Amino acid sequence: MNADGAARHVILSLRAGVQSTALALIAARGDLPLPEAAIFTDTGWESAVTYAHLEWLAAELDGVLPVHLVRKQRRDGGAAHIRDDALGVVAGRLPRMATPPVFVKGSREYNPCPNPAQQAKFVRHVGGASNFVVMPLFARTFTGKTSQLKRQCTGEYKIEPIIRKTRELVGRRRGIRRTQPPYVEMWIGISADEKPTRCKPSREPWITNCWPLRELGMTRRDCEQWLLEHHGLRVPKSSCIACPYHDDRLWREIKLHRPDEWEEAVADRAIRRLPMVQGECYVHRSCVPLDEVDLRTPEDRGQLTLPLGDEGRDNGDGEDLCQL
Ligand code: SF4
Repeated sequence: MNADGAARHVILSLRAGVQSTALALIAARGDLPLPEAAIFTDTGWESAVTYAHLEWLAAELDGVLPVHLVRKQRRDGGAAHIRDDALGVVAGRLPRMATPPVFVKGSREYNPCPNPAQQAKFVRHVGGASNFVVMPLFARTFTGKTSQLKRQCTGEYKIEPIIRKTRELVGRRRGIRRTQPPYVEMWIGISADEKPTRCKPSREPWITNCWPLRELGMTRRDCEQWLLEHHGLRVPKSSCIACPYHDDRLWREIKLHRPDEWEEAVADRAIRRLPMVQGECYVHRSCVPLDEVDLRTPEDRGQLTLPLGDEGRDNGDGEDLCQL
């Protein structure tokens, strides 16, 4: 119940990774109040293991907790696909995309845009900057700095579709003031071991974000244990196939066990010169082409394991890189 007495609808933001899967199944067992619905937002480029898990989960929750799959829509009404959209921008078929958080080896020159109208617009935008190089092949001067593009993909591919579906489910008509009911309590699968800074309020005043696993004091490991005990389940991490947030452990797993997805990921060379970016783009933080990154473990290299090496470090993103 809200301060003004209006009831809140409870919706689960389902990422189909460890934490939100545990949350859905704990609620389905009756150990938490049952949300009205769960919503999974698909970027179109999730791992096959995530889609398979999602199918299992939706069947398991059938008749108890409805699971809705949603996707960002393109202007022409088609379903967006994060990888195809990036390639569309590179080929000049699309004017822009929501940037993924790729790593950038900084250059003094901007990458040109193949679409002449878009290029002219961009040159105007940067004030006719003389460092806009039309043939970067002969003119790239690297700054020696690396950076990461601002992440826009979560907002466009994850948050907007879930908000749109939530509006529909709770009957929130256009024109209702943002502070007026119907209100929604949005459950998010961030566990007790994750950084509190990941728990951000919703940008929509009618949605209140909640983190029930934190209230239960459950860590990611507790969730894994619970899933194993109650369902015999090991849930794969959920994210786009070539999300730049992957750590080396996940890259190695994809390389060794999911060859088709690895082939798609190493095609990151296609986005090396993302139009209008000042530098070369890479999905691996080392700014080395993915198929050239040394992903061997210290043991593979004949070294002792270092306790604080890349292997032992959690990237802190838990399951849900993309949250409300
Ligand atoms: S998983 Fe990574 S690439 Fe995909 S939408 Fe989220 S942040 Fe962007």
